[in-house]
Amino acid sequence: MDKETLLREIIDRIATCTRCGLCEHRTQTVPGEGNLNARLFFVGEAPGREEDLSGRPFVGAAGTLFTEILKSVKIDRKDVYIGNIIKCRPPDNRTPTMAEMDACAPFLLAQLQVVHPKLIVTLGASSLSYFLPEREIKITEMRGKRLQWEGGITIFPMFHPSYLLRNASKAPGSPKALTWDDIREVRRIYDQSE
Ligand code: SF4
Repeated sequence: MDKETLLREIIDRIATCTRCGLCEHRTQTVPGEGNLNARLFFVGEAPGREEDLSGRPFVGAAGTLFTEILKSVKIDRKDVYIGNIIKCRPPDNRTPTMAEMDACAPFLLAQLQVVHPKLIVTLGASSLSYFLPEREIKITEMRGKRLQWEGGITIFPMFHPSYLLRNASKAPGSPKALTWDDIREVRRIYDQSE
């Protein structure tokens, strides 16, 4: 089966999923989107209000900032794949529970298996914690570190754009300033992965 068919099957399974209680709150699922052959795969936490309404990941204010961050190093959204660990919006945008992440993550793992990127950039603590054996992590300590995952795939953690919206300072050492450093490093790893 080709990649498009495989991903379509995953998206169809997500659309009817009732594996966890979040199915009761969604307007629609937000499966993820992007280039089927992307070398770079961004993983966020869960859909917010705008994503729940549109069915697309990283739209609204955080999505606009995310797109700007990519543009600053000349990466286009159409060249990457963008998804979340959780495919249905948690009520009031609360942090998903570990049980919800465990229920939903097989979909993300299936998407990763099909797209087979060289680099996964996790956005925020929750998405990174899923990939690490120790789940209690501090994103302030882990961001900007290159980590190795299964199959020779590099994981690079960054702050979540929503966190940057709540921390607007651009002073040296601020989350925003560090994010510009991080995205330049992502660009370097991306170029090396050709
Ligand atoms: S969050 Fe994931 S596991 Fe839970 S109902 Fe939605 S698609 Fe299914």
